[in-house]
Order: sequence, then C-alpha cells, then structure tokens
Amino acid sequence: MINLENISFDHCIKCTVCTVYCPVARVTHLYPGPKFSGPDTERLRIKNPALIDESLQYCNNCKRCEIVCPSDVHIADIIRLASLNSPKKEFKLRSLVLTSTDLIGKLATRMSTVVNGLMGLSVTRFLLGLFLGLASERALPKYASGTFRKWYLKQQHLQMAFQNRVVFFHGCYVNYNDPELGKSVLQVLNRLDTGVLITPEKCCGIPLISNNRITKAKSQARHNIDVLRKAVGETGMKIVLTSSSCCLALDHEYQNLLELDTTGIQGQVELLTKYLFERFAQLPDPGLKPIKLKAAYHAPCHLEHMGGVVYTVELLKKIPGLDLQVLHSECCGISGTYGFKAENYQISKDIGQNLFDQINTLQPDLVITDCETCKWQIEFNTTYKVVHPITLLAKAMKN
Ligand code: SF4
Ligand code: SF4
Repeated sequence: MINLENISFDHCIKCTVCTVYCPVARVTHLYPGPKFSGPDTERLRIKNPALIDESLQYCNNCKRCEIVCPSDVHIADIIRLASLNSPKKEFKLRSLVLTSTDLIGKLATRMSTVVNGLMGLSVTRFLLGLFLGLASERALPKYASGTFRKWYLKQQHLQMAFQNRVVFFHGCYVNYNDPELGKSVLQVLNRLDTGVLITPEKCCGIPLISNNRITKAKSQARHNIDVLRKAVGETGMKIVLTSSSCCLALDHEYQNLLELDTTGIQGQVELLTKYLFERFAQLPDPGLKPIKLKAAYHAPCHLEHMGGVVYTVELLKKIPGLDLQVLHSECCGISGTYGFKAENYQISKDIGQNLFDQINTLQPDLVITDCETCKWQIEFNTTYKVVHPITLLAKAMKN
C-alpha cells in the first residue's frame, strides 16, 4: 500500500539541481545522485522493491539536495528509507560500535588516558580496519576524563536558583568528548541570568539513522521526546543544543523520518546560537571583550538545512576584533559515521577537498563550526584548530 502522505517524490520536476549540488555524486561514479536514487527510482521501487540497489548506501544524508530542491521533495528521507531494504548488509559489529555512543562513551571516559593512548597507535587502527571495516588512516576522536553530566550534577542546585531557564540537550559529544563546551554553555547562559537544566537524555539517534538501525533510533527518540516533554511541561522553556546534527534529529528527523509524535517539544528546539542571537538583540550592549583573531567559519550542512547559519554568523560578528571570514558553502565529507568507514574514506576526503583548500588559502588563526564531526574532519585534513562558536563566545564573555 502506498503511503499517500509520503509521495513528495511525485512533486519532482526533474530540474536536476539536486544532482548538481550532491557532494557524493560530484566525486564518485559509484553514486548516481539524488534525482536518480530518490524520486526517479522511488516510483519504480514502489512497484518493484527489487530495484533497490547498493548505490543507495553512498548517500551520506547531508541533505544538501533538499536545501536546493525547488519542489520540496524529501529526497534524502526517500533515499534513507529505501536504503533500509538495500541488499548490501551493513557490517553488524561495525554498526554496533559506531552507534553505541553512550555505552562506549561511558566506558571510555572512565579510562580515557588508556583508551586515547590505544586509539592513537597505528596497530590499533590497523586492527580496527581489519576486524571492523573502519578506515585505519583516520584519527579517532579523543575522550575526556569524566563526563559533562557528572560535572553538571554538582552545579544543578545553582541552576535551579535562576528564574529563567532552558533545557540543554548536550548530546554525546559534549558529554564524552568535550565537557568544556558544556561548561561554556553554562557560563554564557548564566551571564544572561538563565539557568540550565538537563534531562536523562540518550544519544539523539543520528548515528543509528545513518547506520539503518531505525527501530533502535525510534526507541531512543521516543525516550528523548518523553524526558524533554516532561522537562518543558507547561513552562514553554526552550530546548537548546550546541550540535547542529543533534538539533536536526530533534527538530526534523523525529517527526519527518521516524514519524514520531513530537507534540510538546516541536517549536521548542533551537540551536543555542539562534537562542543567544535573539537574547542579545534585547540587550543594549552584550558586553563582549575583543578577540583579535582571523577566523574562518564553516557552515555544517545540517545547519544550512535548518536555516540556522545566519544566526551563528551574526552572533559571532558581535565579538569585537574578530575578523570573521565565512567560507563558501561546502560539505566537509565526514557526515557523522560515514567517513569513518573504510569504503567511504577516500570519498569523504575528496568531498571535503574544496573546503580544505579554502581554509589553507585563507590561513586563519582558527576555524569555527557548530558540528563536532565537521571539526574532526577539518582538523584531520588541515593543520588548523577548530572551535565551537560558543567556546569563542564564552571567551569573549569572561570577566
Ligand atoms: S543527502 Fe547529500 S549525499 Fe545524499 S543524495 Fe542528498 S546531497 Fe547527495
Ligand atoms: S531538485 Fe527536486 S525537483 Fe529538481 S530533480 Fe531534484 S528532486 Fe526533482
């Protein structure tokens, strides 16, 4: 039976602009592109599911095709759902490792020195390549010693004292890799007389969605919707995030791809930079200290999809002395777990090359982006340090 509410493929006018903008189709002949893999073949797949082929797995879910489509075809969603029935079976153990972010994060942060040391060894990466199909060339993200949540629990009573509050969905990256970013979030929001609450959240589900583990993604999403809904209650509190991909999950994927009821959180989810931009607009002077640096800003694809880039850029422009250069829009190529897989490693690097070239030509003091995996990709492929906009803002707000 055809789901008549999900026939956006029928709105395709065959303009092909999506294929022109697809970063994967640009660098490899293995992927025919969004028009062919999305609306063109979806019509045929409905009649004959055998037409699903392995090439669907090369879509990295960047959603750039959806940004440019004039007919609002849900191209990336169509491809993602079709790929669930792909004959190419995902390497189960690898998929389990890449998607068990909470379990691995909890263990790794307890013995981070050992884990980081081991992951830095080329022999470990070779073995991970051999047994898990991970790209042995790629450096793996480092874990923090201790989680953000553990640190936060000691601050909780202070946060409850604020009358104005927001819920912070910190995501796995802040919790396990960069608790300092979470501390910066509290510093910035507290300076604006706003307390920060957290909930017993689970991973947003983006790695599960990308690795076709939709049932598990749905169960984690349901949990997150429940705890966030309870926290927001009748208060109308905003749910703010620092990760553009987690934000896309809560704001878009839960409702559109996973088809879950997001009542109670829909309309409340915002990237923190947008929330702060609006708060700053109410202040006569945000009181920021100058930061005299030349910074290159890279807009993550998922943030472009949500229309959020302008808020981050305008917020950063408020920092006096910051020479902000906005890079031409390009996909960095990593797309979460995509670029960590051996078969995607070179594609991922080739996609990002235009971005790396821009950065190298500009020679900034640092690079800024709102996405943790873009950060990993840029730091791995250039010599530049990448920071989150909130990290820099917190620095400008320090007394
Ligand atoms: S989501 Fe990205 S990789 Fe996939 S078809 Fe669209 S533009 Fe191409
Ligand atoms: S951009 Fe949209 S309308 Fe144009 S070919 Fe792609 S899916 Fe069809």
